[in-house]
Amino acid sequence: MPRSVSSLVKAAAQLTFLAVVGAALYSCTMRPVPRGTATLPGLQGPPVVKVALSRHFPAAGNTVGVEIEGEYRVASSRSGAVLHHGTSLAGAAVAVNPKGGMTVGRDTFPERDLRILPAFDGTLKVGERFYRGSLRAMTNEQGKLLLVNEVPMESYLAGVLGAEMPLDYPQAALEAQAVAARTYALFEIRQAELDGRAELFHVFDDTRSQVYSGTLRETEKARAVIAATRGVALLSGGRLFCAYFHSTCGGHTEPAHLFFDVPQMAPLSGRSCEYCKEGKWRRWEVSFTKAELCQKLGVKDVSKLRVAEKAPGIHALRVEAGGRSWNGMEFRLLVGADRLPSTAFEVEDKGANYVFRGTGYGHGVGMCQVGCKGMAELGYESTEILKFYYPSAEVLKVY
Ligand SMILES: [Zn+2]
Repeated sequence: MPRSVSSLVKAAAQLTFLAVVGAALYSCTMRPVPRGTATLPGLQGPPVVKVALSRHFPAAGNTVGVEIEGEYRVASSRSGAVLHHGTSLAGAAVAVNPKGGMTVGRDTFPERDLRILPAFDGTLKVGERFYRGSLRAMTNEQGKLLLVNEVPMESYLAGVLGAEMPLDYPQAALEAQAVAARTYALFEIRQAELDGRAELFHVFDDTRSQVYSGTLRETEKARAVIAATRGVALLSGGRLFCAYFHSTCGGHTEPAHLFFDVPQMAPLSGRSCEYCKEGKWRRWEVSFTKAELCQKLGVKDVSKLRVAEKAPGIHALRVEAGGRSWNGMEFRLLVGADRLPSTAFEVEDKGANYVFRGTGYGHGVGMCQVGCKGMAELGYESTEILKFYYPSAEVLKVY
């Protein structure tokens, strides 16, 4: 994610990636789409994605259940030396040893930075979930356990796809989503390298990055879509960019630079979209009491609440109330992105309440997922969909 806008705004970008459920016919056969190619510096093949398993981050403390169905190795993350060969790990835990080192199952190791490497892909279970790739277990400055799933990009994406878009969407929509997700992940890896944290991790497994729950949402179809688009990403002027996407734009997407800390660029400049009209978020209405809004916004006065400025499309760029003002996205996050579906709304003062009437779901930047589905149902190919939502972007195989 691009950084340094307020953390609220950053998180808002991702909270809204929740896809809406919709029914669609799935009728295309899987086939790799022929593409042009491009070479990106430092990228020879699919990279390994380092995913911080955040559900185990602050909460788990010093121990987490880890099982492996079959053989595995435990290695020192620092030296790479194999410290232990195991035949299987059942009913076991990885734990920080208070006197130093770590335990994996019944074995104790002097180091607090270990890699647990299953012999067979997909046999690693952390908590209740199975993961491909391997697990790095280490501790932070407070001695708390940090877990990072190190997984090849295409396996990672097979787990992301179904978490970010319903897998019953048409093939072309899923392919477009796969390419956007790959671009987003490659961009995040590049960003992590620039930030100097890539040695530890690249992405989170939740809405701060893309939602990834190991193999929980991975299906045969998801794997086939990822395979059909293997290595394909979006480039602008030969460079990766942050390929934002959201559920439903409601009629117009917005320039990314107005809401996120990214430079102005053609693929993220916003455009009209007539393809998400039939979605379930076509019209919505929600009501907040004024007292509730005061509390959520942390102010004493929410009088004269209004959209003071709109982005070029239909979303609120600035919302005013009681002499204060917020960026539209920040406002939505403060009042609750789960309560206020989007920032494309009008407000009506009803005395004790404000009624918000709007359209769409999500932040409105980048690709509109319900629009993808609409375009795919009209027969558009994934490349056409991507070029529609990311104007002037190139769709190229980068490995
Ligand atoms: Zn749309």
